[in-house]
Amino acid sequence: MMNWPIETIGGVGNRLKEQLEAIGISTVNDLLFYFPNRYENYEIKPLSELIHDDKVTIEGEVLGEPTVTYYGRKKSRLIVRLQVEHAVVKGVMFNRPFAKKQLVPGAIVTCTGKWDQHRLQITIEQYKKGKAKTDQPIQPVYYVKQPLKSIQLKKIIKKALEQYEEQIVELLPSAYLTSYKLLTRAKALKEIHFPTSFQALKQAKRRFIYEELLLFQLKMQLLRKRNRERTQGNSQLFDFSLVNRFIDRLPFQLTKAQNRSLQEILQDMRSPYRMNRLLQGDVGSGKTAVAAISLYASIVAGKQGAMMVPTEILAEQHMSSLQALFGENVSVALLTGSIKGKKRKEILSLIEQQAIDIIVGTHALIQEDVHFANLGTVIVDEQHRFGVNQRKALRDKGIDPDVLFMTATPIPRTLAITSFGDMDVSQIDEMPVGRKPVETYWVKDNMLTRVLQFIQKEVKQGYQAYVICPLIEESDKLDIQNAVDLYQQLQEMYNSQQIEVGLLHGRLHNDEKEAVMQQFASNQVQVLVSTTVVEVGVNVPNATVMVIYDAERFGLSQLHQLRGRVGRGEAQSYCVLIADPKGDVGKERMKIMTETTNGFELAEQDLQLRGPGDFFGKKQSGLPEFKVADIAQDYRALETARNDAQSIVYNHLLTNDSEYQALNNYVKQTFEEAGVTFD
Ligand code: ADP
Ligand code: MG
Repeated sequence: MMNWPIETIGGVGNRLKEQLEAIGISTVNDLLFYFPNRYENYEIKPLSELIHDDKVTIEGEVLGEPTVTYYGRKKSRLIVRLQVEHAVVKGVMFNRPFAKKQLVPGAIVTCTGKWDQHRLQITIEQYKKGKAKTDQPIQPVYYVKQPLKSIQLKKIIKKALEQYEEQIVELLPSAYLTSYKLLTRAKALKEIHFPTSFQALKQAKRRFIYEELLLFQLKMQLLRKRNRERTQGNSQLFDFSLVNRFIDRLPFQLTKAQNRSLQEILQDMRSPYRMNRLLQGDVGSGKTAVAAISLYASIVAGKQGAMMVPTEILAEQHMSSLQALFGENVSVALLTGSIKGKKRKEILSLIEQQAIDIIVGTHALIQEDVHFANLGTVIVDEQHRFGVNQRKALRDKGIDPDVLFMTATPIPRTLAITSFGDMDVSQIDEMPVGRKPVETYWVKDNMLTRVLQFIQKEVKQGYQAYVICPLIEESDKLDIQNAVDLYQQLQEMYNSQQIEVGLLHGRLHNDEKEAVMQQFASNQVQVLVSTTVVEVGVNVPNATVMVIYDAERFGLSQLHQLRGRVGRGEAQSYCVLIADPKGDVGKERMKIMTETTNGFELAEQDLQLRGPGDFFGKKQSGLPEFKVADIAQDYRALETARNDAQSIVYNHLLTNDSEYQALNNYVKQTFEEAGVTFD
């Protein structure tokens, strides 16, 4: 791995050695993998191809004497006119009056600087008499610390490349180079430092992006395999035909994505390792259905299942949809904070005797006095709403139960692959057939009356509407429409129309919330004004309109979640975003919402707009640092690398195939350095 110290490179003495060490370079390998942070282009392009504001190089003939004007103290501006192709270009140079002597009329000069396309003007940073030397037009620029200079570093790297070229080991098996058309490691290194063209530079980067991602994924997969082998779990040996019979009896056919995810889950459950899987899918994509089948498999295996959800409303909804799916043969019970006293004792005792198969609940599930007889599968819905300890507390209610986390907040693939190192991920990335995408509009405040009329029209046709506001009560500083006010306004407005308006917010008591939700679910209330408490999981298929006030205050994912409350029935549904974002990013985000209804796509877009740090929020971004790869851009390479890494690990290629020897050595050494041991 070229771990020779840098002083083995000809010409590197003590002083240079120290300067290199100051930027983290102590071996030949470090040096060769110290990539330029940018490149300067001294390539001469036709004037018509120059890009405004770019740094460019032009070649021309001096026309007439340059003029020099002095201003301020010691400041000057030199102006020279150059004949370039058929045009006259104005060259401007600051504070170098002496250049006038060289720029004599008729001289050919090569100038580099910032290009102004509109004025045909270049702000000259460097100039040279004579024609441009074109053998190395693309020059690397390195980040260095004084007194080391980029140009010195360039020389040393050149020398190192010459001296050690033969010893640059190819890490990748030759089949990869061929099938992905990748440059060899040696060639790519040369092109990274001394590109022969931008095309070649791009290829060099491509090779290192893949290499970096493959090495990262390989380490992750090896660690994951090790962790798996170390985590005891239990095999839930269910009879497949019984599970299949259950699936056949469902009132719908599973989508391909549901089926794929389900198979992944069932395989985990049968395996002797503990399942630790995240199931992602848009609202309505059918996660709960998949969860239900998994729970059923657990019951067939003679075990119990538990499902923990963040709110009581959701618990009740899940409870009734599970009951509907399971029918008579499975006993499902609900355990929430509002179930108390004798009723609670009774349920607890039934759970302990395994007289109850499936228990759905809130945090109430993880209280100390809840004991399961034989907990096989744990499902945690909207997992991000629970803390690590809460999730663990539920898991600890059984002996190594299989755990499935569910989330309707799609995390971009790239982030899922990189940040859930220890978790397997299944994605339901398609909707059941027949769903009509929600039509989404973005309007400004002045359209409000029309929006309210539109709601009225939909209600007249028998449908219902949500109106969402960001906050409950008026805040002095922020001019936010508050839910209570809005509720009163709408009530007055719709009163004469026999339209009932309801109000839901986080400060209501649970039974009040429950009552309002019930009224909405049973269509006694047609328009529900709500804060975001309605966000999670609630299912009222008759609602066709979602109006969101101050939409710019919500993240794309949250807007998407809210929008997911409608479009659950047969009828066409609509989402209206009322927003007046100031910045371009805000406008772009509103526009994206109107253009796509795919949560994964939105998440990717959000990632592109805000970057990975923002996407997760500062705290959560335990993302690995990549040197060449950019996970927001290189997701295809990342997926390829992950699949390759999985197949390498799964097929034991590192140790069984000599083509993988170099990779194996690399991985072994990295783990050794990190102190990671394998059995
Ligand atoms: P999620 O939990 O992802 O929000 P659900 O599992 O609650 O989605 O499904 C939403 C609705 O779609 C439910 O009414 C469910 O019965 C129905 N459903 C689920 N899967 C399918 C399918 N494959 N085809 C048709 N309808 C489905
Ligand atoms: Mg759900």
